[in-house]
Amino acid sequence: MARIYEGGCHCGAISLALESAKSPAELGVRECDCSFCQGHGARTTSDNAGRATIRLAEAGRLNRYHFGLHTADILVCNNCGAYLGAYFDAEDGQGYATLNTRYFAAAGEFPAASQSHYQGETAEGRTQRRLGLWTPAVIEDI
Ligand SMILES: [Zn+2]
Repeated sequence: MARIYEGGCHCGAISLALESAKSPAELGVRECDCSFCQGHGARTTSDNAGRATIRLAEAGRLNRYHFGLHTADILVCNNCGAYLGAYFDAEDGQGYATLNTRYFAAAGEFPAASQSHYQGETAEGRTQRRLGLWTPAVIEDI
């Protein structure tokens, strides 16, 4: 039975929901080694068979930061500064996201992170990896 992992940014402007049949241990948590994720202490997770929703309660609060290969939008609340996850639109229009478990209500249930090293990936390789790993997602703006 699917569970919905809910969360959101510190100020409440942006909420997160990850619907997944997996337990926190099965989902696992990744610690990316880039300087942005390290600086935020981010711990991300995704489920390719699940569904993610990023919902705005206040218009205009979602900032999409870009760096590196610019292959994804880095989702940051422009009010409280929370790093919520990353998102990209695939060529068929389907969105995919990985979410920062630090902002889940159930953050404490997730296991220790495994280290991920993505340096040296090509933009195409990065997109293919994410298509097979990240969660189909929608951003519900207002
Ligand atoms: Zn916020």
